[in-house]
Amino acid sequence: MEIKAIRGFNDILPDEIGKWQFVEKTAREVFEGFGFSEIRIPIMERTELFSRGIGEATDIVEKEMYTFTDRSGNLLTLRPEATASMARAYLEHQIYTFDPVAKLYCIGPMFRYERPQKGRYRQFYQIDAEVFGVDNPMVDAEVILMLVHFLKRVGLEKLELQINTLGDRVCRPRYREELKKFLEKKSFQLCEDCQRRLQTNPLRIFDCKVETCQAAIANAPKVIDFICDECEKHFDKVKEYLKMAGLDYIVNPKMVRGLDYYTRTAFEVVSYQLGSQNAVTGGGRYDNLFKEIGGLDVPGIGFAIGMERLISLLPKEKEFIQYPHLFIAALGDETYKKAYQLINQLHLQGIRAELDYEGKSLKSQMRRADKLKSRYVLILGEEELKKGRAVLRNMETKSQEEIPMEDLVDILRLKFLPD
Ligand code: ATP
Ligand code: MG
Repeated sequence: MEIKAIRGFNDILPDEIGKWQFVEKTAREVFEGFGFSEIRIPIMERTELFSRGIGEATDIVEKEMYTFTDRSGNLLTLRPEATASMARAYLEHQIYTFDPVAKLYCIGPMFRYERPQKGRYRQFYQIDAEVFGVDNPMVDAEVILMLVHFLKRVGLEKLELQINTLGDRVCRPRYREELKKFLEKKSFQLCEDCQRRLQTNPLRIFDCKVETCQAAIANAPKVIDFICDECEKHFDKVKEYLKMAGLDYIVNPKMVRGLDYYTRTAFEVVSYQLGSQNAVTGGGRYDNLFKEIGGLDVPGIGFAIGMERLISLLPKEKEFIQYPHLFIAALGDETYKKAYQLINQLHLQGIRAELDYEGKSLKSQMRRADKLKSRYVLILGEEELKKGRAVLRNMETKSQEEIPMEDLVDILRLKFLPD
């Protein structure tokens, strides 16, 4: 029986990889320009890092984690997100002793046991950026500016930045009680999941996609009307700094983030590019996470971008595939040896050259060059070789020129790799 990949686990094939590499390269350039450093964390952690860090009453911990015991009986989980691991690494390696402020980013796969469907997989990729050690609202705005700048750089248009505040450990419990009281009167309207959420984490009901739940919560009290003075001041400052950075935003008082650890600033970037609304990415401040995982009291803010979703929004007309610079069509045994030497030289220079390995006719080699979308074909015929020359054909214009063999590598390098 043919073995297939596991459901919800995807291959990313060569014809798609250009987009992925482009997005990753742009992320590295933009983030490093903002002073962030890459960190690579393990894809597996002790389960309690996530159950405590993300919170027991979240979708991820309740039903989406890939958790199992290893051969020694340790309870382990494939990482469903990166923030908790990054916080663990910051504490474990005492990164704060060098400087309390750490700006970190991480790119890699995450794992969640969700029902696979379009845009939702069991292994998916995130780009994640976090700042640990600062609670100044200036940093909230800085992180948001970096995110919006990155999304524009990869070519996304019609973006809308939505922000909200979620309060903190002083004011959120009060709000939570009010919300609960309000929703208890409407609990008959709530889906089964939300009946449970009403007890464990009523804020999450805002996120439910079921229509009756949306209707139930439509006129619910808003967190923004319950926040304490400190949180209000913080939110005002964030808005002021966003304006100073030239960023437009709308306040969406119904936007809450799914994870427990968020406090104060929450944000999402929505794209209207494909007609309907698409949440590309979200993030927020989490001043409780570090304490939850048993560490120092360190504030943090960051975001996670879903790469599959981002890539589906990239401009269609942009070319991401790297076609060969040159196809070498060799005719005859002697010319093959020459072609072999030449292709090695070209590859060592970084010129993408292809060769036909099967000794086919010129016609069929030209067909293959065409199929591979090679920009040029270099024809090595025995007659030309005797004269020390080769024929270079531009596949687009169909024009041909003869080039002396001894200058060939230099000429091709100048043509294909001018700098
Ligand atoms: P959703 O409400 O869509 O489940 P989420 O709140 O679980 O999203 P986050 O945990 O904030 O998502 O992760 C950030 C981003 O990661 C999301 O905006 C989305 O683009 C992406 N993402 C989350 N889960 C998946 C998944 N199962 N497959 C693909 N991408 C995902
Ligand atoms: Mg989810």
